[in-house]
Amino acid sequence: MSLPTTALFRDDFYLSTNEAVVTAVHEDGGIELDQTCFYATSGGQPGDTGFLERADGSRIALGPAVTGATKEIIIHRPLEGEVSPIVGETVVAHIDWARRYRLMRMHTACHLLSVVCPYPITGAAVGEEDSRVDFDMTETIDKDEVTAKLMKLVEENHPIFVQWITDAELAANPGIVKSKNVRPPMGLGRVSLVCIGENSAVDSQPCGGTHVSETQEVGAIHIAKIEKKGKENRRFRIRFGMPASEA
Ligand SMILES: [Zn+2]
Repeated sequence: MSLPTTALFRDDFYLSTNEAVVTAVHEDGGIELDQTCFYATSGGQPGDTGFLERADGSRIALGPAVTGATKEIIIHRPLEGEVSPIVGETVVAHIDWARRYRLMRMHTACHLLSVVCPYPITGAAVGEEDSRVDFDMTETIDKDEVTAKLMKLVEENHPIFVQWITDAELAANPGIVKSKNVRPPMGLGRVSLVCIGENSAVDSQPCGGTHVSETQEVGAIHIAKIEKKGKENRRFRIRFGMPASEA
């Protein structure tokens, strides 16, 4: 029976490496560690890639991490042809930080978009180059206007922090969740609220992903496209860089 993996990224989004002990190696090659900085695919954010460094300095290259039998188990997945470590072995886990940091910036941008467009979200996918957020809305919005509002939030450099509340607190105070449309990740006993702005003045919503700590870190982003997906659905595509680069 697998033990829960200590998810170090939950308390430090900027942790890119950690020492760990291999606790299980699955038949399909999947590796479990006692603790990890690897985020596992969930909530629209892809899992981290990277490698495990063994005592002899050799590396085991890893594809995107995923969750196991329960969401508390994180599986590190070696790429084709990689060797397996041994249970009990001490390794150092390294995430591809450049990729993760882009995902953190993009994920944060999706939160900012939900502030600018306060409509129910029906889907989202965070990517390294391009992210999409689907809203349940019928209004037509000018993408350059949305970009300008997003960049204003970025430039105002609001702090971003996590507040942990218990499932019971959340149930008792539904008002603290501004975004009614996203199902809070309840069931683990505590829920992380991602808060933007002093005293959450800009936004707060339950989210288990990884985010940057100041909006300025998001950098230049823009809405590349707003697609009509059915009568009541609009798909927004966020990209890095200035809008002019799209021309
Ligand atoms: Zn988030």
